[in-house]
Amino acid sequence: MHKPLTAYDLPNELFIDGRWRPSVSERRIDVFDPSTEALITSVPDATLDDAAAALDAAQAAAGAWAATPPRRRSDILRRAYELMTRDAEKIAQLISRENGKALGDARGEVAYAAEFFRWYAEEAVRINGEISIAPSGQARTIVQYQPIGIALLITPWNFPAAMATRKIGPALAAGCTCVLKPATETPLTAFLIARILAEAGVPDGVVNVLTTSTAGKLTNAMLDDPRVRKLSFTGSTEVGRVLLRKAADSIVHCSMELGGNAPFIVFDDADVDAAVEGAMIAKMRNGGEACTAANRLYVHRKVLAEFSEKLAQRMGALAVGDGVDASTQCGPLVNRASLDKVGALVDDARSKGARVMTGGAKLDRAGFFFQPTVLADVPANADLLHEEIFGPVAPIVAFDDEDEAVRFANDTEYGLVAYVYTRDLARGMRVSERIESGMIALNRGLVSDPAAPFGGVKQSGLGREGAHHGLLEFMEAKYISTNW
Ligand code: NAP
Repeated sequence: MHKPLTAYDLPNELFIDGRWRPSVSERRIDVFDPSTEALITSVPDATLDDAAAALDAAQAAAGAWAATPPRRRSDILRRAYELMTRDAEKIAQLISRENGKALGDARGEVAYAAEFFRWYAEEAVRINGEISIAPSGQARTIVQYQPIGIALLITPWNFPAAMATRKIGPALAAGCTCVLKPATETPLTAFLIARILAEAGVPDGVVNVLTTSTAGKLTNAMLDDPRVRKLSFTGSTEVGRVLLRKAADSIVHCSMELGGNAPFIVFDDADVDAAVEGAMIAKMRNGGEACTAANRLYVHRKVLAEFSEKLAQRMGALAVGDGVDASTQCGPLVNRASLDKVGALVDDARSKGARVMTGGAKLDRAGFFFQPTVLADVPANADLLHEEIFGPVAPIVAFDDEDEAVRFANDTEYGLVAYVYTRDLARGMRVSERIESGMIALNRGLVSDPAAPFGGVKQSGLGREGAHHGLLEFMEAKYISTNW
């Protein structure tokens, strides 16, 4: 079942200036399989000298890449999409192996990740400007979009392929060069993507990949380097805050995709079976380890019993097992700290009166497994209603009317996504407008789409990824005033 690593034909050195090379330090970081806790391999532990070399490479390549015709940049991205699709199964296996997610989820992620290359291949040739006459009539106003400069891209472990392509795609389309720092838990997928980009024709130095055990130190040094003009970060709100403070020193432009605490609202007029189906996707995609995961399920009292029982039945029937096993529907959590955190959140809710309808415990085996869990009668002071669970646990809370549902939904510092189920479209639109979040899934369990602007309000982030919005995050508007 578990292939030896050589089966993946994997590059696992730093990727700098188009070459694979060890860290100057020669130190390595071990990478483990969350399904078995076995060592997979090790990756280099980059130093400040490696980071400087990556920036030198990105700087040397910047001028030529910005001047490369958009059609050529587009063709390269299109080729990267085709190569990712060609290698989809190999990449999916690797994602399951290093992240633990079920192979079905990993296959879905690869398809989603590749789409960012296809979408931005299409956007690369659609960088339009604007021209207008100044209100005074005395000048023409020309607005032109230019690449922002070298971009530092930092990604989390939960979508090791998609979070990388969602940044690299628009950066390259815009004409920026970049340095990618993937999460230490899941660095291998980033190396495979770097190899695909090189095969697709990305010139040396345009994309560089660094793995490190000292993310803060390396990032601080790169943000202090005046050549870095962009930081695109996806990860926790806590680390996002630290990075925003640091980026302020050099006024580096920031895009921040941070944490979520998504409400999932089921009104009494909803199609309950469709809502259960949607909840399974919104909660269990990626085993619950998604920033978009339904974190709090608010269900109208009239349909509470029916929804809860049907959801518990579906959750209890999921096949839990090794990520790479094709029959698995829910893999392990990414590491022991995550497993302990999810266990502690469930224990806290139980101690405050929540009722376990299914699951509720860790699995007694190697690997970081938690049973798919449904909790009913969850009290308002349970910690898991206020912080990201990031695991296969669905807490259900009853509500009585629309105002109460909206109040519950907005009672959080986060504002990434919300899910709403109702057959009444007017109510659906009204509630969508009242909920404080960057995205709404109305009668759907999934919002992610490369062609749509993904992002949050409040403490879920700044800026958008995907769509044309994602491209503009890597560009500066230049205004030229003239007359003729
Ligand atoms: P994390 O701990 O914030 O780490 C994210 C990335 O930041 C990793 O590459 C990490 O490197 C790096 N990092 C950590 N501390 C740093 C520092 N001081 N300076 C610079 N970089 C630093 O988040 P995570 O646990 O990997 O991911 C889960 C979080 O990501 C959740 O909160 C989830 O909601 C969020 N997320 C958001 C979105 C979105 O689009 N809004 C999408 C996916 C995930 P190391 O791995 O080396 O620590």
